[in-house]
Amino acid sequence: MCAEPLRSAASHRARQERLRALLESRRVSRLLVTRRVNVCYLTGFTGSAGAVLLGQREAVLWVDPRYTLQAREEACGVEVFEEKKGILNGVARWFEKNRVRECAYEAADLTCAQFEQLRAKAGKGLRWRPAEELVEELRVVKDVGEIEAIRQAGRVTAEAWEETLPLVRPGVAERDLAAEIDYRMRRKGAQGSAFETIVASGPRAACPHASPSAKALQESELVIFDLGAILSDYAADMTRTVFLGEPGTRVRKLYSAVVRAQGEAVRAVRDGVRAGRVDLAARRALAKCGLARYFTHSTGHGVGLEIHERPRLGRGVTTALRAGSIVTVEPGIYLPDWGGIRIEDTVLVTPDGAEILTPASKESWIVR
Ligand code: ZN
Ligand code: ZN
Repeated sequence: MCAEPLRSAASHRARQERLRALLESRRVSRLLVTRRVNVCYLTGFTGSAGAVLLGQREAVLWVDPRYTLQAREEACGVEVFEEKKGILNGVARWFEKNRVRECAYEAADLTCAQFEQLRAKAGKGLRWRPAEELVEELRVVKDVGEIEAIRQAGRVTAEAWEETLPLVRPGVAERDLAAEIDYRMRRKGAQGSAFETIVASGPRAACPHASPSAKALQESELVIFDLGAILSDYAADMTRTVFLGEPGTRVRKLYSAVVRAQGEAVRAVRDGVRAGRVDLAARRALAKCGLARYFTHSTGHGVGLEIHERPRLGRGVTTALRAGSIVTVEPGIYLPDWGGIRIEDTVLVTPDGAEILTPASKESWIVR
């Protein structure tokens, strides 16, 4: 049974079938999935500990007694085993009993100690093969339920921001505004924030990932807000920048340069385009205004169960974007000792373009 309305047994079974096809194409007989987010993706089980074995015939989920009931309720398409003496113990014993000869494992997730434990307990006859992020590869293209979850997360994010905007004024602490945003996202049904909400004002906005501090906003400062709600386990990611007071010509020029660069990059998004091409669109637009050297990070990243996932939209990345992928487009400029401007939307890649999933205004950036 699947608990959440956006989870369906059919979609989890379809993901398991896609993984089976991928395993077959890579000549991998079975994969032991230990990364929590991948366990959730494949089965719907959201507990903090569990391991899944998926092969052409096998579909097993091991959990410890804390999660047996939850796993039976949430997990789709797998047999649930309770393991009292450690999950990896259970896995190893099952391998021994079923005379498993070969298994791939998520090399980027298991620690050396965990892997040694597995290897020792499962016996010598078993060949272990490290696997490179196979489930992550499947997660690049979202299914209908995932797109709907991120669409809702994006809407909640945009609304929480627009409702917080009237509270933005000189004298308010960054931290208080971050709390207001988090509160509003939760009131609108979010499970929480996908990452620590960023409110960075004045010179602090020159650090792309500044934590909100006790600093009070001041007149004639730029303020960067970077926020994202999680809904049904899926994240959204959005950044808006505002100016307090009457902006001079320079600030206006800089702001419109970033908005233009972001728009150019969003227009470059479509099925089949190389990720690096989208990055280039943003960089070229900023270069036209002589600002390229102040853009110090990648243009975007995939969003889904994790806030940063595949694909990366960076310089020279040759991966082609695919319809159904969800990515951010977030160029920014950062001028040391002065401040920064970043605009970010989460967008859905479509066959002929992009749909913005974080529909908050970029025009209302001047707070008087
Ligand atoms: Zn962000
Ligand atoms: Zn982002």
